[in-house]
Amino acid sequence: MKDCIADARIVNFSARLGTCLRIRRVLAPFALGLTIAVSAGLATAQQAPTHGASAVPQAKHPSNSQLADPKIEARVEELLRKMTLDEKIGQLVQYNDTGDSPTASPAEAKPADKAAEKAGVIVAVNPVMANHLDVMQMAATGRVGSMLNTIGQARTNTYQHLAVEKSRLHIPLLFGADVIHGFRTVYPIPLGLAASWDPDLVVSLGHMSAAEATTAGVRWFYSPMVDISRDPRWGRTAEGAGEDPYLGSAMARAYIRGYQGDDLSKPGQVAASVKHFAAYGAAEAGREYNTTDMSEITLRQIYLPPYEAAVQAGAATIMSAFNSLSGVPASANPFLMGKILRGEWGFNGFVVSDYTSVMELINHGIALDPATATRKAITAGVDVDMMSHFYDTQLPGLIRSGQVPMSVVDEAVRRVLRVKFATGLFEHPYVDVPEVTAAVAEHRPLVRKAAEESFVLLQNNKLADGAPVLPLATERKNIALIGPLADAAGEMVGAWGGAGRDPDIITIRQALEARAQKAGGRLIYAKGTEIEDNSEAGFAEAVKAAQDADVAVLALGESNAMSGEAGSRAYLDLPGNQQKLLEQVVATGKPVVLLVFSGRPLVLDWAAKHVGSIIEVWFPGTEAGNAVADLLYGDVSPSGKLPMSFPRAVGQEPLYYNQFPTGRPAIGIDLTKPGEGDTHFVSRYIDIPNSALFPFGFGLSYSTFSYQSVKVSKSSIPLAQALANRGAPLVEATATVTNTGSRPATEVVQCYVRNLGTSIEQPVRALKGFERVTLAPGESKQVTFPLGFKELSFIGGEHLPIMEATHYTVWIGGSSLADQSAEFVVSSKPVRASVE
Ligand code: BGC
Repeated sequence: MKDCIADARIVNFSARLGTCLRIRRVLAPFALGLTIAVSAGLATAQQAPTHGASAVPQAKHPSNSQLADPKIEARVEELLRKMTLDEKIGQLVQYNDTGDSPTASPAEAKPADKAAEKAGVIVAVNPVMANHLDVMQMAATGRVGSMLNTIGQARTNTYQHLAVEKSRLHIPLLFGADVIHGFRTVYPIPLGLAASWDPDLVVSLGHMSAAEATTAGVRWFYSPMVDISRDPRWGRTAEGAGEDPYLGSAMARAYIRGYQGDDLSKPGQVAASVKHFAAYGAAEAGREYNTTDMSEITLRQIYLPPYEAAVQAGAATIMSAFNSLSGVPASANPFLMGKILRGEWGFNGFVVSDYTSVMELINHGIALDPATATRKAITAGVDVDMMSHFYDTQLPGLIRSGQVPMSVVDEAVRRVLRVKFATGLFEHPYVDVPEVTAAVAEHRPLVRKAAEESFVLLQNNKLADGAPVLPLATERKNIALIGPLADAAGEMVGAWGGAGRDPDIITIRQALEARAQKAGGRLIYAKGTEIEDNSEAGFAEAVKAAQDADVAVLALGESNAMSGEAGSRAYLDLPGNQQKLLEQVVATGKPVVLLVFSGRPLVLDWAAKHVGSIIEVWFPGTEAGNAVADLLYGDVSPSGKLPMSFPRAVGQEPLYYNQFPTGRPAIGIDLTKPGEGDTHFVSRYIDIPNSALFPFGFGLSYSTFSYQSVKVSKSSIPLAQALANRGAPLVEATATVTNTGSRPATEVVQCYVRNLGTSIEQPVRALKGFERVTLAPGESKQVTFPLGFKELSFIGGEHLPIMEATHYTVWIGGSSLADQSAEFVVSSKPVRASVE
């Protein structure tokens, strides 16, 4: 609670809930480099509108059939006919709740930063507070359509009563919130969940969090974040599924199924908001809110697939991103929102801007005034303005002057109303079921399983007696538990920890204390240091704890605030003096288990050379301690596989496995030694190897697996057949996987493809299938991956998916380094019979 209050970014707590919600809001993270009072002359000199509603291609195949229901359409039209301009604009406006009504007393409004004021810029504050908006009054008069991070049954019902009973047309409010990885019962951060490679698990978790959050009035999640990220400096890496479009798409679909189910109006379901459209994860230098710039081929082949997967799974809404993409800000980008999203994908939900991203168009330099920013955003396809206070202030004038056609506003309102009708809000505007105010006991087993599946065993060396460090041998009874994350309830939930409450969280210390006692030993706890500190005052106690124990478990890593929004880092080491603490504990010679808590891949180079066992545990959520104990004691075998490459050094970033080939590949060269002659003039570093320290798809188990008989069902496929059968599998790749160890375990079997001879060069390998396989010791299973046009095509020069008469290699194995392969060709010549 103390931390929450100290964090100026967290404002969404409700006294009525009696707890601090981690659903946070950025109040003043940046300076708006502008003065709003730009001369009218300048403003009118700006570009005239070019994109009206007519410019947006009409959806031929609506992405969400529920939103295309003629009954809903009739209700939308009937309501629209009755609406005044102000009421229409109201539906396009979103604000948060700042407390009581009137919402923002002058004392609450943050004074603009003095230095910024002096420099002639205004500091962005929460516009609701800065402008003293009375959101309750707005709700009562139909001038706000949705609310942001307003949570709790009493609070949401209060607003809803105003909207439904006082406003002229009784249109209910939609309450949206950043429920990213759990509401009260919190599960691992999305990057950790991606490490489970278990979409079915994600469906169940999504369903669970929707069921919890709807009891607190939330009917709309600003989730999933499906931004591909190849650079762990970017803190929001924590919120996505990592670097791969195939895995990212599978996860994106799973979140939508979990949140929305098969019918948005069913109790306990929420509408999803897929974010941040688009390519936000490619922020240059990994710096938050930074620009992105890429070829359309890379955009379509790498970055767009997860958004498209989510849209095709029926996502009801999309959030436009903060970043500009190749020069055009995403929140004013007709190419993204018009041509691709609505035109090509048939998206028929609505687009909400990111927080003040309409206002930020001015900082991007494509609008000199609020009116232009508004015109550009709405005509490009942003339907709802989150927090900018631009649509409500600017649209009336823009409509009057004809700069924004009424049809554009009408269409945006239709999109919002469709979602409101589809979610059943008109029939059930209020929450009247018991509110979930704490972690739910029945949900704990699921989030514990999720945490267990998310852990990735990165290293597990053998000790002198030949046994690996983990699972803990029964004779290792006394455990030293060391580190700032060992007993840190509040840190276990990571960024966007929902409404998780500290007392509900099982810390590592709590769980291991119980387990060590049960095993007839004891736990010696020593914090050692803080997450970010220079003091070594606690080191001696930590070293002594290790000396007195049979094994030392170190819980080290980042704080939850070091990743997530505005959590970019230039260094990816263990923060503060934790590395030094680790070195001193390792120097005791005791077996060491390092638990790494992080919202991103860290540089673990030293640890990989000196620490016996390393487990990446991300931020595991409510059941953190129990899940860690289950793994350490061997109740479950680790099965997680990395969704992002772990670098040897920050200088390798962006580092990703599905890179494009180079004309001078460093193949067959010892990259640990400086190059000479032929080994010098190749694509390499002179100081470290090119490869990841721990590659994409990698993760160890307490068992071992072998792969045999990697085959494809055909050696040749006629191109004409491939092009004519876009929905059907063209070839099947199979392999037999065997559990060669002595304990039951789960392996994530992965299938990678390389396509050679193409008109556009293709990645050195790309994931095209995966399956979790649980095997008893000695058991084998044949795994089959159907490969069709979707998996085998690539984005051609015309920016469309194509296949050509080319050569394919398929690898099947346990990581992106899988080395057993089979080959086939796609031939331009007709083939009489396929070779089996
Ligand atoms: C974030 C979004 C979030 C929104 C609402 C923004 O700052 O970028 O991911 O959904 O705030 O809280």
